[in-house]
Amino acid sequence: MPLHTFTATVLENKKLTDDVILLSFSAPKEFSFHAGQFITLRLEKETEFRLKSYSILSPPSQKGKIDLCIKIVDGGFASEVLKKAKKGDSFQIKGPLGHFVFEEDDKNKEIWLVGGGTGVAPLYSMLKEHLANVKNKKFVLIFSVKEKKDLFLHQEFEQLAKKHSNFTYIPTLTREKWNGATGRVQEHLPDNVENKTFYICGLKELVLETKEFLMKKGVILRNVKSERYS
Ligand SMILES: Cc1cc2nc3c(=O)[nH]c(=O)nc-3n(C[C@H](O)[C@H](O)[C@H](O)COP(=O)(O)OP(=O)(O)OC[C@H]3O[C@@H](n4cnc5c(N)ncnc54)[C@H](O)[C@@H]3O)c2cc1C
Repeated sequence: MPLHTFTATVLENKKLTDDVILLSFSAPKEFSFHAGQFITLRLEKETEFRLKSYSILSPPSQKGKIDLCIKIVDGGFASEVLKKAKKGDSFQIKGPLGHFVFEEDDKNKEIWLVGGGTGVAPLYSMLKEHLANVKNKKFVLIFSVKEKKDLFLHQEFEQLAKKHSNFTYIPTLTREKWNGATGRVQEHLPDNVENKTFYICGLKELVLETKEFLMKKGVILRNVKSERYS
């Protein structure tokens, strides 16, 4: 996919939870990417600027608009700029970037997607893009957050699971009891890891711990793909 640099306009800034926002940007019609890839945003504050990476939440088939979901970290450079971004503001975007992409010619018949917090973004893009066409595989999403109130896109994932019988959605809470799954993602991973592919995305601890768990179970390296946010 060709690398583009363009000025994008904010189309929407919507709160998904107390500390996660959905930011939508305009994108040129010719901007294309693979589900799972990310872009960088140039962020300016007074005389300083920084480039920050964000996974693309929307699927590649959505043209002309890029959606991102961003965790607002108190005092974070990007977080402080982005939480105030409003419709009409412009930002420089560069992308698409990254190799964390869904492999369509994968022979494995089970695809396990593991996302922590906003790490679910590239997995959402993959599901939206491929679930409808890849009918010969079983998909499982483990979405880990602290509390129920942190579960953004929850209804959308539930609806996807209702619509596609080959998709199982497992939201898990690490700091609250409820009538669903609880505890860390490892507790919901399969015992037998043979002929399964794992896509893991989130903060360093989640990615490293999940990979280590899978390695102990004997997973083959090429069946584990990951993207680290920290
Ligand atoms: C390839 C890639 C893709 C990324 N995609 C996303 C994305 O889709 N959504 C997103 O919210 N972030 C994403 N990030 C993280 C993002 O680039 C920034 O690091 C994040 O927004 C914090 O930046 P900041 O300047 O506000 O805070 P900083 O001052 O840089 O960091 C403050 C603290 O925030 C922590 N932190 C960083 N990201 C997160 C997070 N997602 N959840 C909880 N704590 C975090 C860091 O560990 C650090 O301790 C991605 C990072 C990479 C490398």
